[in-house]
Amino acid sequence: ARKTDDGGIVVIGLGRFGSHLADALTKLDHEVLAVDRNQERVQHWSDRLDRVVQADATEEDVLRQLGVADFRRAVVALGASVEASVLTVLALTELGVPQIWARANSEKHAKILGAVGAHHVIFPEAETGERVAHLIVSKMLDFI
Ligand code: ATP
Repeated sequence: ARKTDDGGIVVIGLGRFGSHLADALTKLDHEVLAVDRNQERVQHWSDRLDRVVQADATEEDVLRQLGVADFRRAVVALGASVEASVLTVLALTELGVPQIWARANSEKHAKILGAVGAHHVIFPEAETGERVAHLIVSKMLDFI
Protein backbone atom coordinates (compact mmCIF):
# COMPACT_ATOMS: atom_id res chain seq x y z
CA ALA A 1 0.00 0.00 0.00
CA ARG A 2 1.16 3.53 -0.73
CA LYS A 3 2.28 5.44 2.31
CA THR A 4 1.14 8.91 3.27
CA ASP A 5 3.75 11.19 1.70
CA ASP A 6 4.35 13.73 4.44
CA GLY A 7 8.11 13.54 4.63
CA GLY A 8 8.33 10.49 6.88
CA ILE A 9 9.10 10.11 10.57
CA VAL A 10 12.31 8.87 12.18
CA VAL A 11 11.80 7.08 15.50
CA ILE A 12 14.92 6.72 17.63
CA GLY A 13 14.91 4.07 20.34
CA LEU A 14 12.68 1.00 20.24
CA GLY A 15 11.99 0.61 23.95
CA ARG A 16 8.38 0.24 25.13
CA PHE A 17 7.47 3.81 24.21
CA GLY A 18 9.37 4.07 20.91
CA SER A 19 8.26 0.69 19.62
CA HIS A 20 4.58 1.38 20.25
CA LEU A 21 4.98 4.78 18.65
CA ALA A 22 6.68 3.38 15.54
CA ASP A 23 4.08 0.62 15.28
CA ALA A 24 1.17 3.07 15.60
CA LEU A 25 2.65 5.45 12.99
CA THR A 26 3.14 2.54 10.59
CA LYS A 27 -0.48 1.46 11.09
CA LEU A 28 -1.52 5.06 10.39
CA ASP A 29 0.24 4.59 7.01
CA HIS A 30 3.25 6.82 7.59
CA GLU A 31 6.74 6.09 6.39
CA VAL A 32 8.81 5.23 9.46
CA LEU A 33 12.56 4.81 9.80
CA ALA A 34 13.32 3.24 13.18
CA VAL A 35 16.79 3.37 14.71
CA ASP A 36 18.08 1.40 17.69
CA ARG A 37 21.60 0.45 18.66
CA ASN A 38 20.58 -2.92 20.06
CA GLN A 39 20.80 -5.71 17.45
CA GLU A 40 18.17 -7.90 19.17
CA ARG A 41 15.63 -5.08 19.28
CA VAL A 42 16.34 -4.32 15.63
CA GLN A 43 15.85 -7.96 14.65
CA HIS A 44 12.66 -8.24 16.67
CA TRP A 45 11.09 -5.15 15.09
CA SER A 46 12.32 -5.64 11.53
CA ASP A 47 9.46 -8.11 10.91
CA ARG A 48 6.85 -5.60 12.01
CA LEU A 49 8.20 -2.25 10.77
CA ASP A 50 9.24 -1.28 7.24
CA ARG A 51 12.72 0.07 7.93
CA VAL A 52 14.68 -0.68 11.08
CA VAL A 53 18.38 0.00 11.29
CA GLN A 54 20.99 -0.68 13.93
CA ALA A 55 22.95 2.46 14.76
CA ASP A 56 24.09 4.72 17.59
CA ALA A 57 21.82 7.73 17.14
CA THR A 58 24.14 10.07 19.05
CA GLU A 59 26.48 10.04 16.01
CA GLU A 60 25.55 12.82 13.62
CA ASP A 61 27.54 11.32 10.72
CA VAL A 62 25.82 7.97 11.13
CA LEU A 63 22.39 9.62 11.04
CA ARG A 64 23.40 11.59 7.95
CA GLN A 65 24.48 8.40 6.19
CA LEU A 66 21.10 6.86 7.00
CA GLY A 67 19.39 9.73 5.20
CA VAL A 68 17.81 11.16 8.36
CA ALA A 69 18.34 14.71 7.08
CA ASP A 70 15.73 14.03 4.37
CA PHE A 71 12.99 13.35 6.92
CA ARG A 72 10.64 16.07 8.03
CA ARG A 73 10.08 14.75 11.55
CA ALA A 74 12.02 12.83 14.16
CA VAL A 75 11.07 11.52 17.59
CA VAL A 76 13.79 10.82 20.15
CA ALA A 77 12.16 8.10 22.24
CA LEU A 78 15.22 7.26 24.35
CA GLY A 79 14.34 7.03 28.03
CA ALA A 80 17.11 5.97 30.35
CA SER A 81 20.07 8.10 29.30
CA VAL A 82 19.74 11.89 29.42
CA GLU A 83 23.13 12.21 27.75
CA ALA A 84 22.15 9.99 24.81
CA SER A 85 18.85 11.83 24.32
CA VAL A 86 20.51 15.26 24.43
CA LEU A 87 23.29 14.25 22.03
CA THR A 88 20.75 12.73 19.65
CA VAL A 89 18.58 15.86 19.63
CA LEU A 90 21.72 17.93 19.01
CA ALA A 91 22.67 15.69 16.07
CA LEU A 92 19.16 16.03 14.59
CA THR A 93 19.34 19.82 15.02
CA GLU A 94 22.72 19.90 13.25
CA LEU A 95 21.19 17.88 10.40
CA GLY A 96 18.39 20.42 10.11
CA VAL A 97 15.43 18.10 10.75
CA PRO A 98 12.51 20.57 10.77
CA GLN A 99 10.40 18.99 13.51
CA ILE A 100 12.14 17.34 16.43
CA TRP A 101 10.11 15.68 19.17
CA ALA A 102 11.88 14.39 22.25
CA ARG A 103 10.96 12.46 25.36
CA ALA A 104 11.98 13.92 28.72
CA ASN A 105 12.28 12.36 32.18
CA SER A 106 12.18 15.61 34.13
CA GLU A 107 11.65 19.36 33.78
CA LYS A 108 15.41 19.97 33.72
CA HIS A 109 15.87 17.35 31.04
CA ALA A 110 13.09 19.05 29.06
CA LYS A 111 14.84 22.43 29.34
CA ILE A 112 18.09 21.00 28.02
CA LEU A 113 16.26 19.31 25.14
CA GLY A 114 14.70 22.65 24.23
CA ALA A 115 18.07 24.37 24.46
CA VAL A 116 19.67 21.96 21.99
CA GLY A 117 16.84 22.34 19.51
CA ALA A 118 13.87 20.09 20.34
CA HIS A 119 10.62 21.66 19.08
CA HIS A 120 8.27 19.50 21.16
CA VAL A 121 8.96 17.77 24.46
CA ILE A 122 6.86 14.87 25.67
CA PHE A 123 6.53 13.23 29.10
CA PRO A 124 4.94 9.86 28.31
CA GLU A 125 4.54 8.61 31.88
CA ALA A 126 3.20 11.92 33.23
CA GLU A 127 0.87 12.40 30.28
CA THR A 128 -0.47 8.86 30.48
CA GLY A 129 -0.96 9.12 34.25
CA GLU A 130 -2.94 12.31 33.80
CA ARG A 131 -5.04 10.89 30.99
CA VAL A 132 -5.84 7.73 32.92
CA ALA A 133 -6.82 9.80 35.99
CA HIS A 134 -9.38 11.66 33.88
CA LEU A 135 -10.56 8.42 32.33
CA ILE A 136 -11.08 6.78 35.73
CA VAL A 137 -12.96 9.76 37.10
CA SER A 138 -15.19 10.07 34.05
CA LYS A 139 -15.94 6.32 34.14
CA MET A 140 -16.76 6.55 37.85
CA LEU A 141 -19.43 9.13 37.11
CA ASP A 142 -21.33 6.40 35.24
CA PHE A 143 -21.89 4.55 38.50
CA ILE A 144 -22.97 7.41 40.73
P1 ATP B 1 11.00 2.53 27.54
O1 ATP B 1 10.41 3.06 28.81
O2 ATP B 1 10.43 3.17 26.31
O3 ATP B 1 11.07 1.05 27.44
P2 ATP B 1 13.64 2.72 28.53
O4 ATP B 1 13.93 3.92 29.34
O5 ATP B 1 13.38 1.43 29.23
O6 ATP B 1 12.49 3.05 27.52
P3 ATP B 1 16.12 3.02 27.11
O7 ATP B 1 17.16 2.37 27.92
O8 ATP B 1 16.10 4.48 26.98
O9 ATP B 1 14.72 2.39 27.50
O10 ATP B 1 16.20 2.43 25.66
C1 ATP B 1 15.19 2.55 24.74
C2 ATP B 1 15.74 1.97 23.47
O11 ATP B 1 16.70 2.89 22.94
C3 ATP B 1 16.47 0.64 23.66
O12 ATP B 1 15.97 -0.30 22.71
C4 ATP B 1 17.93 0.97 23.40
O13 ATP B 1 18.61 -0.07 22.74
C5 ATP B 1 17.84 2.20 22.51
N1 ATP B 1 19.00 3.09 22.61
C6 ATP B 1 19.61 3.53 23.74
N2 ATP B 1 20.63 4.35 23.43
C7 ATP B 1 20.67 4.45 22.08
C8 ATP B 1 21.50 5.14 21.15
N3 ATP B 1 22.52 5.92 21.55
N4 ATP B 1 21.22 5.02 19.83
C9 ATP B 1 20.20 4.23 19.41
N5 ATP B 1 19.40 3.54 20.23
C10 ATP B 1 19.62 3.64 21.54
